[in-house]
Amino acid sequence: MIYLVRYAEIGVKSDKSRAFFEKLLVKNIKRVLKDSNIRVYRERGRIYVETDSKEAETALSRVFGVASFSPVKITLSHRDQLVDEIVNYAARILSDADTFAVRCRRTGLHDYTSREIEREAGSRILDYFGNKLKVDLENPDKTIFVEVRESQAFIYDQVIPGPGGLPVGTQSRFISLISGGIDSPVAAYLVMKRGGLPVILYFDNTPYASDNMIENIIKIRDKLEEYSSYRRIPVYTVPYSRLLEYITKNIPGSKYICLLCKRCMLRIAEQLALKLKADAIVTGESIGQKASQTMRNMRVISNAVKTIPVIRPLAVFDKLEIEQLAKKIGSFNISLESKACCVFTPKHPSIKADLEIIERVENSLNLSETLSEVFNSIKRVNS
Ligand code: ATP
Ligand code: MG
Repeated sequence: MIYLVRYAEIGVKSDKSRAFFEKLLVKNIKRVLKDSNIRVYRERGRIYVETDSKEAETALSRVFGVASFSPVKITLSHRDQLVDEIVNYAARILSDADTFAVRCRRTGLHDYTSREIEREAGSRILDYFGNKLKVDLENPDKTIFVEVRESQAFIYDQVIPGPGGLPVGTQSRFISLISGGIDSPVAAYLVMKRGGLPVILYFDNTPYASDNMIENIIKIRDKLEEYSSYRRIPVYTVPYSRLLEYITKNIPGSKYICLLCKRCMLRIAEQLALKLKADAIVTGESIGQKASQTMRNMRVISNAVKTIPVIRPLAVFDKLEIEQLAKKIGSFNISLESKACCVFTPKHPSIKADLEIIERVENSLNLSETLSEVFNSIKRVNS
């Protein structure tokens, strides 16, 4: 089958960046289709993919940078042959339709206009189906699209939406804080959709988290890899309960525990980012979703790191919107299997923390030694 692949945002870039984006898009399409006989070629703002893969449509619908795609019939653009092919195509797809339209676009020199092809093919199709079918240019049951390009023409009727965005790998790495919950995989997906390359960091709260947590993080990684065009996504874990035990032992019941926990997470993520040359930390926080996610508290949390931005793609999304996206991505059910209820959460967490007080509390705790111990025990998961 041959697919015509369209891209949106790449098209408005300058020639030089466009070539870079197109190249990566083609590379990602090849990776995702895993077909040794595949042929992919670029031509004037379009990509054509020739493949035997049965999974092509599912795969293409996950490649960031693809705006939409259509399975096409290719024919020569010679007038008689083209009209014959349009009629053959119509005979195959219009049997259930009551109304139809033919839409033609053309580039190159030909001895006909697009309108002429539309009219000629339209009337031949009407002849073929007798009185059963009508032309409706406003709201047809089916439209047959014809794109004539120089000596070739493409006929199709389906336009399947792609995920949009920009090809993965056109941006640098980011540290994706993945908790196993519903939100963080969606945040990672959205930054990948803009071209970013994720590195997963999971803070392991064993023995306070369920036993299957790491397994679930790996499942989330595998799901996200379907969208990274199967580029491997590294997973790092770090034992975190010791630090939390240390904090809660020293300031039991404090309303700042969650904020201190999040600030320490960012500090460790910042260190990992430095080591791996990543340019951002990404979290699944959303304004107002939790006590630690008020705008004030997110400011206080972000303030713990000075050398790297914290990106919160879900900041303005409702929980329901996040859940819908998680379902679309396929991470929702994996997240439901993770039971990560935090035993350290105080009864009345602060919703409007004061940065100065937080810094004072932190200083009194002398966290730097424990923090560097935690950082030194980061491990890359081999699987
Ligand atoms: P999620 O649904 O992603 O768990 P959440 O709304 O439940 O998010 P929190 O548990 O407060 O919120 O965490 C906020 C963000 O901090 C998460 O989205 C995630 O990016 C990061 N985070 C929290 N816990 C962990 C963890 N154990 N490991 C890695 N990142 C974490
Ligand atoms: Mg959570």
